[in-house]
Amino acid sequence: MKINDKQLAQVNDRIKALIASNSFYGKKLEDAGISEVCSAEDFEKLPFSEKKDLRDAYPLGLMTAPEEEIVRIHSSSGTTGKPVIIPYTAKDVDDWGEMFKRCYEVAGITNKDRIQITPGYGLWTAGIGFQNGCEKLGAMAVPMGPGNTEKQLEMMQALETTVLCSTSSYALLLAEEIQKRGIKDKIHLKKGVIGSERWSDKMRERISTELGIELYDIYGLTEIYGPGIGINCEHNTGMHYWDDYLYLEIIDPKTGETLPDGEWGEIVITTLVKEGAPLIRYRTHDLSRIIPGKCACGREFPRIDTIRGRTDDMMKIKGVNVFPSQIEEVLAEFDEISSEYQIRISHLDGKDTMRIYVETNGHVDFADLAKRIAEKVKSRIGFTPIVKVVEIGVLPRSMKKTARVIDERFD
Ligand code: ZN
Repeated sequence: MKINDKQLAQVNDRIKALIASNSFYGKKLEDAGISEVCSAEDFEKLPFSEKKDLRDAYPLGLMTAPEEEIVRIHSSSGTTGKPVIIPYTAKDVDDWGEMFKRCYEVAGITNKDRIQITPGYGLWTAGIGFQNGCEKLGAMAVPMGPGNTEKQLEMMQALETTVLCSTSSYALLLAEEIQKRGIKDKIHLKKGVIGSERWSDKMRERISTELGIELYDIYGLTEIYGPGIGINCEHNTGMHYWDDYLYLEIIDPKTGETLPDGEWGEIVITTLVKEGAPLIRYRTHDLSRIIPGKCACGREFPRIDTIRGRTDDMMKIKGVNVFPSQIEEVLAEFDEISSEYQIRISHLDGKDTMRIYVETNGHVDFADLAKRIAEKVKSRIGFTPIVKVVEIGVLPRSMKKTARVIDERFD
């Protein structure tokens, strides 16, 4: 989906504001001799922005609106080095609340719901984002924050909360506790809004069945407002995102080239109306694709697919971009293999090849199983791997995180 004229005009407004404020990105654009973009082709030539730049702008180098208009900052905790600080104007906070309200509405949540919010409050954008949207919707927020399961369950019963906002791991923990205590009939939850982290279909199904609720995936990142910039609808075919606030592109993470709709790659986001810290072509390193066509729900908002992982996980085999999670999904369909597998990428005769090792017991025809797995990978992902079937227990086990992908091309 190419950028349209209205969005281009909005980008030009942001470019002007960035340059006028002499902010970190304003200077960058000025140095690159960019003052406006006239076409989609121009836009696709704009330099990317990166998390590293945001760190370099620490503490307030990204501030693009006058100081007296900034009402709040949020910060994303970096695992290494300096954090990133994002300033927000009152309008930014309001816009974010509107987007989040839309998310709740798409999930069928109304002002009659009681929303228990378990993500953390504070410098980061999680709890307060869920709260903003909830108040805008007119629903009742139960602002718990994380942890203290005892208290969570107590409030959940006493207040008869109908919506749970949490990470998938915390939702699972709560589901297990509810089952253990035999209090399911005292729980009134109908829906769960789950913050974006990669979770398997198996986990989703478990949470959904054990709590008896519908689940919705919410997308977002601190650099771009926070959670609430996209959510799946009742048809569960990817997440709708708000293209009146944001322009999304999918790029090839290696070449930086913008990819056509439907192709998998890295999500790059441009904020169209953000004032405090506009970002142009921000590389999220999240892997997804734009789903072509219209959703059966009739909403005009475009969709991205469930996040597949991070660009760092991506491999390119015979010209096809592949992520470990895709292989994992295919393998999950074979009941006869164990949960252990290993992927080895090597360079043979001028070509990259993938070998997949899987385990099974002695009752299975190894050759036939290998053939079926290879065919399924070919039909799903588009290339044929070499599949090796071994006896259960042969693949290495580790107490820590097991290395399942081994790249031998650069040894
Ligand atoms: Zn839809």
